[in-house]
Order: sequence, then structure tokens, then C-alpha cells
Amino acid sequence: MTAEIINGKELSTELKLEMKEEVEKLKELGLTPHLTVVLVGENPASKSYVKGKEKAAAETGISSSLIELSASTSEAELLQLIQELNEDKTVHGILVQLPLPEQIREEKVIETIHPNKDVDGFHPISIGKMMTGEDTFLPCTPYGIITMLKSKDIEIEGKHAVIIGRSNIVGKPIGQLLLNENATVTYCHSRTKNLQEIASNADILIAAIGRAHAITAEYVKEGAVVIDVGINRLENGSLTGDVDFENAKEKASYITPVPRGVGPMTITMLLKNTIKAAKGLSKIEG
Ligand code: NDP
Repeated sequence: MTAEIINGKELSTELKLEMKEEVEKLKELGLTPHLTVVLVGENPASKSYVKGKEKAAAETGISSSLIELSASTSEAELLQLIQELNEDKTVHGILVQLPLPEQIREEKVIETIHPNKDVDGFHPISIGKMMTGEDTFLPCTPYGIITMLKSKDIEIEGKHAVIIGRSNIVGKPIGQLLLNENATVTYCHSRTKNLQEIASNADILIAAIGRAHAITAEYVKEGAVVIDVGINRLENGSLTGDVDFENAKEKASYITPVPRGVGPMTITMLLKNTIKAAKGLSKIEG
């Protein structure tokens, strides 16, 4: 079997076109969704992520602003800024780019963002609501993965989903979202014994590890759906996933590539969350 490729870039383009139309309608009602991104320090990867977010926002007509702070910013200064953004009625979504310099506690920052403006979906209130299946902001990467599965009408209910990786931003929440969709979920991590045996039982296999090509074809059951979240930079500068794509695609039924897979979906879901925040704060239904 050769897998069908789930192209996250193409799906993102479709979703952004839909969002553009929605934003135009909101603008007619006098509402321009606005995302404020806060970047602390000079991390080159963070700078490039932030640029990508601004560009994608502009494509959909969402307005955005970037607040750049020096690497020596204190935690108190950043929390004060977030409070001001919480109160600013023209700001609908607040995103503080992670990681932060070590003098700033990430959990303090995340907890200070008002839950109604938490477009990253990292606030404990958002996470709690996700767990209980209430309507909330979903963290963007897991939200993107679920959207990719649904775009291909891939059945989730009753399927065995194996998640490799248990980070708070990817592994744990994607497992929860799949559980909410009635999958049977197994989490694996660096202490898991018999990883290959467990993975090769998965109907839906999610790799979110951060190790290039760690998941070889032996980890993939014939006909499995394989979602590769990993982004790893090779010595030649190119990007690759956690999955050995060339060999795994010969066994999988569906597979996501890297690049043009989960990555573009993550930013697209941030825009979806920004529109949701704008509508919620302005009490516009739908
Ligand atoms: P973390 O480093 O926070 O988590 C990695 C997870 O992988 C941990 O739970 C770790 O286990 C587990 N792990 C590490 N080594 C092994 C191993 N040998 N066998 C089994 N499990 C292992 O990473 P993130 O979750 O933040 O990101 C994962 C990958 O996804 C990275 O490549 C990152 O760049 C990428 N990413 C991509 C995004 C996208 O938009 N496509 C968005 C966010 C991340 P333990 O908990 O025991 O340490």
C-alpha cells in the first residue's frame, strides 16, 4: 500500500481562504480581529515563527501587531504588559512566543493571559475545558492535527491511537482530543518499554518526539494513519520529520509530510482561534 499524503500546506490555503471571507464579513460588522504577538529576546527560530504568524494573519485580513522586548525584560514587566493587553478592547488574541528568557517563568506568563484571549490554548482554564470537552481555544498543533484527520474523513472512533511524546503543547493535548473523539489512546515517551511493539499496533500513530527519522517503517502497522509532528533540521539545513517518510509511506494508509504537513496547520489554527476570540469578545455568534 502506498499512503495518501495529507498535505497541510494545501489544507491551510483552503482554510485561510474560508477565513478571509469570514473576516471580510466581520469587518462589515465593524469587527477586525486583532492578534498581538509578544516576542522577548533575539531567538532566531522564534523570530522566524513570529514572521510566519504575521504573514498568515495578513493573508486572511486579520490585523496583527508585534511587540518586541529585550532579552533582559523582567517577569514583572512582561506580566504588566500582558495585563494591559488583557484590558485593551482592540486586542482579541494575545500570543507570547515561547521559549522565554530564563528569568521569566512561562507558567506565570501563560496564567496571566486572559482566558478569553488565550489563542495559543495553553492557559490552565483552556486545558481544563479541553479535558472536559467544553468549547474552548484548542492548542494550535493538536487542533491542526484533528482538522487534518477530519479533512480526509478518517475514522477516529474506536481506533487505537498511539502518541509518541507527552509534551504539554503537543503530545498530551493531541491524545486528549483523540480521546474526546472516542479513540483508545496510548501515550509513549522516553521511558516507554517496547515502543516499537506498541507503535506497530496503532491505527493512528502520532510522532511528536523531535528526533529525525526515529520512527522507521517497523513502527508502522500496515494501513495505519501516520501523523509526523517532528521538525528537525538536518546538517544540510533542510527540515525533516520524526518519521522515515519514504519507507513508512509504503505501509501507511495516510501520512503527513515534513515540511508541508502539520507545521502550516499550526499557524492556520492560531488564526482560527483569533477569529473565535474576536467573535467571543464581541459577542458575535457563529
Ligand atoms: P518535547 O521535547 O517537549 O517533547 C518530546 C517528547 O518526546 C517527550 O515527551 C519525550 O519523552 C519524548 N521522547 C524523546 N525521546 C524519545 C524516545 N527515544 N522515544 C520515545 N519518546 C521520546 O517536544 P515537543 O512536544 O515540543 O515537540 C516535539 C517535536 O514536534 C519537535 O520536533 C518539535 O520541533 C515539533 N513541533 C512541531 C510543531 C508543528 O507545528 N509541526 C509544533 C510544536 C512542536 P519524555 O517526556 O520522557 O522526556
